[in-house]
Amino acid sequence: MTTAYPHLLSPLRIGTHTLKNRVIMGSMHTRLEMLDRPVEREMAFYEARARGGVSLIITAGYSPNEEGRIEEGAHVFDSATQIDHHRPVIAAVHAHGAKMLLQILHSGRYAKHDLIVGPSDVRSPINKRTPRAMSEADIERTIEDFVRCAVLARDAGYDGVEIMGSEGYLITQFVTPRANKRDDRWGGSLANRCRFPVEIVRRIRERLGRDFIIMYRISALDLVEEGLSGDEIDGVAQAVEAAGADILSTGVGWHEAPVPTISYHVPRAAWRFAVARLKKVVRIPVVASNRINTPEIAEGLIAGGEADLVALARALLADPDFVNKAADGRAEEINTCIACNQACLDYIFGDRVASCLVNPRAGREIEFTSAPTTRRRVAVVGAGPAGLACAIESARRGHQVDLFEAGSDIGGQLNIAKRIPEKTEFNELLRYFRRQLEVTGVRLRLNTRISAEQLARSGFDRVVVAAGIEPRRLDIPGIDHPKVATYLDILSGRVQAGKRVAIIGTGGIGYDVAEYLLGTPETHLDAETFYREWGVDTAVRSQGGLVASTKSHAARSITLFQRSTGRPGDRLGISTGWILRGQLKKHGVEAIAGCSYTKIDDRGLHYRINDVDRVAEVDTVIVCAGQEPARALAEELKARGIIADLIGGARVASELDAVRAIDEGTRLALSF
Ligand code: FAD
Ligand code: NAP
Ligand code: SF4
Repeated sequence: MTTAYPHLLSPLRIGTHTLKNRVIMGSMHTRLEMLDRPVEREMAFYEARARGGVSLIITAGYSPNEEGRIEEGAHVFDSATQIDHHRPVIAAVHAHGAKMLLQILHSGRYAKHDLIVGPSDVRSPINKRTPRAMSEADIERTIEDFVRCAVLARDAGYDGVEIMGSEGYLITQFVTPRANKRDDRWGGSLANRCRFPVEIVRRIRERLGRDFIIMYRISALDLVEEGLSGDEIDGVAQAVEAAGADILSTGVGWHEAPVPTISYHVPRAAWRFAVARLKKVVRIPVVASNRINTPEIAEGLIAGGEADLVALARALLADPDFVNKAADGRAEEINTCIACNQACLDYIFGDRVASCLVNPRAGREIEFTSAPTTRRRVAVVGAGPAGLACAIESARRGHQVDLFEAGSDIGGQLNIAKRIPEKTEFNELLRYFRRQLEVTGVRLRLNTRISAEQLARSGFDRVVVAAGIEPRRLDIPGIDHPKVATYLDILSGRVQAGKRVAIIGTGGIGYDVAEYLLGTPETHLDAETFYREWGVDTAVRSQGGLVASTKSHAARSITLFQRSTGRPGDRLGISTGWILRGQLKKHGVEAIAGCSYTKIDDRGLHYRINDVDRVAEVDTVIVCAGQEPARALAEELKARGIIADLIGGARVASELDAVRAIDEGTRLALSF
């Protein structure tokens, strides 16, 4: 069979092993170990991805000793007593013809516990704790701990290890002057700074022989001050290759980097230049990673000679069957990672177990079981994400499903969200839903605002109301003034905002509207614009690959307002909020907290703050003050004796997002 992805699907020799294709699953911190039945959960999680066709899987990071753990209770692999935890997981992966590597990760100065160590006692800006500088004896012992961990990995049945040398963890800290201020044989010259990873690789190779895969994850670009220059990165790559590494995987940016590396602000495959550089200076295969979310992009990287393999991580949370679907000519059916970080990284940073906005099963595989059911006639009202997920999952289970949508297209508020610069990836989710409606045979009724009476007459066995929300209306004197608009007016293009804008509300929508109205270049669509706006040195001549960023012209002067006194924008996603807040600040957007609104008139928005009356003289006041559930239909059904299931915004509007909407829709469909 011919394929659109001949390079991606071709085998590759790594050391003495052969991988069946060029797609590997990169390491992901999932926190599955924090839940009940951890081995069962990990088996189900990794097995789903192996079954889905990847050629090699890398585990979450395991620390080689207590000091290296990222937090209390995190994975450590330092004793033979832990081997039994790994064996069933490895067997489940091997059963599908995939290889598996254990990632060895020492957090160094990123650790959030009292045993924190680093090459020097230099604190990271993203950690309150200062590390204890390691002694020579500590360094020797830590290298031996890496070797012991690799031996344990071999004994457990892994095909090899990945040594984590990127993202700002301990090895990266040794390699760069940013965190390594030593003047002994472990600091100073590049050769001295590289000695730590080189010794780890050399001794593992010496101990475990040629058959054991050693993958080294190198920081292809540090994106921090006092990070490495391109020449130095080449030097590290060549040193670990000479020490015995079989393959180089790549990471980009330390966790403390001021440049986004994987969110939807970053163009797809934006970091290909850094990977392609490395490929030229080593003989071993090189793996590209970060913002690779379609088989076309992955194929292009390999076909173009920029990389030998691709590592997908979030793309496999979104769709474990990514490779098989690409291989079977069903790429249209891939549930694409939209780089939102909402349920993966934001959950991890928020001490929760990772999942995925577009695929609620991710990390919850054992909770989403589908028992046999009797075929029923199901009506789902509303084709927003909650209704779409519910309709599709119900049809997959064999029910006959009618999906009613008042609008002319599916998507609900996602159709509004996708108009925000940077959020165009939502189009992929809509494409996926559209295709799944076809595949599962859901009967879609667009332009149909279905009433309670019609539903009652049709005799459905089950009615699900996913009618979404109504924007909250405010009771401020002058709220009907012509200069007042809602976020829907603005984002739908019904109303054009003036040059001076006040936004009431600092939730996700208020910030999104501010970004939309700034009119600055869309960095996610054009890599050159992204590099300029964020100050990325693609020649990597500078230390850390950073240069001065440019500042584009903002189309409007914008002020955001909130009544509460907390820091505005604090509830935005942890891994994306800093990017949005930073961009708005850079373009002069102000946010005012702790005010009450007194009136709106020809002058603008009048408000009171600290007992002082003020006025924001603006042309347009935009209300982004939250939402209320759209309950009218459910109430009318109830009056007719029909108890409908409510999901998404129609159930609870507060703190609603697409993560919850899709999760609720899917779970409900699995319950009947
Ligand atoms: P909705 O998406 O509101 O869908 C409800 C649907 O029901 C609508 O299509 C409506 O036409 C239809 N309907 C209503 N009544 C009837 C009827 N009687 N008959 C037929 N059809 C009917 N969330 C995120 O997670 N991440 C983001 O980055 C994000 N960004 C956003 C940006 C903006 C600007 C906006 C507005 C929202 C954003 N959201 C985001 C929120 C997200 O879109 C919502 O949480 C989600 O769409 C809610 O899903 P839902 O299915 O409950 O309702
Ligand atoms: P929101 O996050 O609940 O924010 C509502 C804002 O309106 C708050 O700033 C609130 O601040 C203000 N407000 C509430 N009641 C008010 C009133 N009576 N008068 C004046 N101001 C009032 O809601 P949203 O911004 O509309 O977003 C809706 C949902 O979409 C959110 O739950 C969010 O999860 C989702 N969303 C997510 C993203 C994302 O990137 N993840 C982006 C957009 C939207 P004060 O009460 O302090 O004034
Ligand atoms: Fe991708 Fe968002 Fe899912 Fe994370 S939550 S894997 S970024 S789609």
